[in-house]
Amino acid sequence: MSGRDKEPPGAAPDRAYRDAETPLAVLAEALRGFNRDRDWEQFHTPKDLAMALSVEASELLELFLWRRDGDLPPAERLAEELGDVLITLTNLASRLDVDLMAAAEAKLALNGRRYPVERARGSAKKYDALGATPEEDER
Ligand SMILES: [Mg+2]
Repeated sequence: MSGRDKEPPGAAPDRAYRDAETPLAVLAEALRGFNRDRDWEQFHTPKDLAMALSVEASELLELFLWRRDGDLPPAERLAEELGDVLITLTNLASRLDVDLMAAAEAKLALNGRRYPVERARGSAKKYDALGATPEEDER
């Protein structure tokens, strides 16, 4: 069973997004071919892909290291590292059979309940400091 057929925890049954209906499916298929051609699937354990995701995110952070506020790294380098993060995230989701778009949609719905506009607008407080109800604090 592919990730496209599975419902992520908390997914709305009438959800709008599925990887198969977005360019993510195209990227995931391209990555499967790329990795298969190089016999790299053997290295793509969930543990190593999760670690690689953190490393790629850190490489993105490194671009900002020691820069003053507002001093952005070169756009080309930002795009490269953001691409690495997306590639690694997509590889991990494929390996774990997770539909990223459905998972993101479910999380967005949960965050909508955690951060109701009337309480969260203009605030950087975490949801549990906004006076959310226990129903909204379900995770
Ligand atoms: Mg990188």
